[in-house]
Amino acid sequence: MQRFGGPWPALTRASRSVVLELLVHGPLSRAELSRRCGLSPATLTRITKSLVAVKMLSESESAQPLRTGRPSTPLAVNPDLVHVVGVNLTRSAMTLVRTDLLGRVLHNRVLTLRSTASSSVIGQLSKAVSEQAGVDPLVRGVGVSLAGPVSAVSPFVRVSPFLGWTDVDLVTEIEDLTGLVTVVENDVRALTAVEHWFGGAAGVDDFVLITVGAGVACGVVVAGRLIDGVGAASGQIGHLPITSSGPLCERGHRGCARSYLASSSIIAQVEQATGRTGLDYQDVLSMAASNNPIARRVVEDAGYALGQLIGTVASVTGAAKVLVSGEGIGFVPLVMDTVVARAAAVQHWTATATPIEVAAFTPTEWARGAAVAALRCQLDLVSVED
Ligand SMILES: [Zn+2]
Repeated sequence: MQRFGGPWPALTRASRSVVLELLVHGPLSRAELSRRCGLSPATLTRITKSLVAVKMLSESESAQPLRTGRPSTPLAVNPDLVHVVGVNLTRSAMTLVRTDLLGRVLHNRVLTLRSTASSSVIGQLSKAVSEQAGVDPLVRGVGVSLAGPVSAVSPFVRVSPFLGWTDVDLVTEIEDLTGLVTVVENDVRALTAVEHWFGGAAGVDDFVLITVGAGVACGVVVAGRLIDGVGAASGQIGHLPITSSGPLCERGHRGCARSYLASSSIIAQVEQATGRTGLDYQDVLSMAASNNPIARRVVEDAGYALGQLIGTVASVTGAAKVLVSGEGIGFVPLVMDTVVARAAAVQHWTATATPIEVAAFTPTEWARGAAVAALRCQLDLVSVED
């Protein structure tokens, strides 16, 4: 697989910092770029000239007059320099998006998996990706995200319990079938990268994203770097103990984070206590919102557990903010006071309480994470000098 030789110049570290600054913050003047990237005006002019020449950057439309009377034309990243396809895999389906360089979704679709056998999934995924590359010749890369200990630095899925895979060379097989540079990334880390570049933590160099849904996990960014950990095991906070007297999780832990927060556990607790059956997550939220005492207690307990997790990870990492995202965060606005109070109580008495935000979440967001992993890979490919 030829991994180099795209439409890019060989970027130096300084050039890459200019491109990233514009990706994350949108159009900026040369003076502002020079200040933010710590580059002399002469160096910046030389870098931007070469990036404009290869159409990686362009002069933005909205020229701002300066006090000197000379117009300052902001620079912007060319969103159509490269497009990518992102695919999120679950046990039953794959969600696919095609995006531009700014992570904007141009197309999305959901496909039911014909089988979870790796050869079947890889074949089905590669065919769907090739169809996108067929209609959009700007597509140059593929990102695949899934739950479990996978990382963008390795082509292998060593183990995926929910798909029943061991030692699958996912990246090489997809590259062979599609001819496109491919990367695989943990789903929560991929979602964290979306927030870091284009979302609620754009440009924030120290933050944590906690996801709540079928499970509970977190992505950690420290000093601008997404942390993988040994064996890509960073962020597995789902079974951290919260109390010794709570509900049981599927692993038999009493009072772990997942036992309080997983959507299935929230539903099960309300069903057991009320004797009702067939409730869904939205039913439980409606009952809590209308002050049903049992549903209210269950979501308050979930808020306490989430606050405990937030306070803990914020204390360990020194995060500037904590974002909460995922399919199972509908309860959070109902109990935000509890979340904030518990997080503050867990943090050190000298620490400033870490701001907590609920991220904008849509069902295609996991696949968009996979697309951003592909974009990061595309930019890394060209970072070959200095
Ligand atoms: Zn557990």
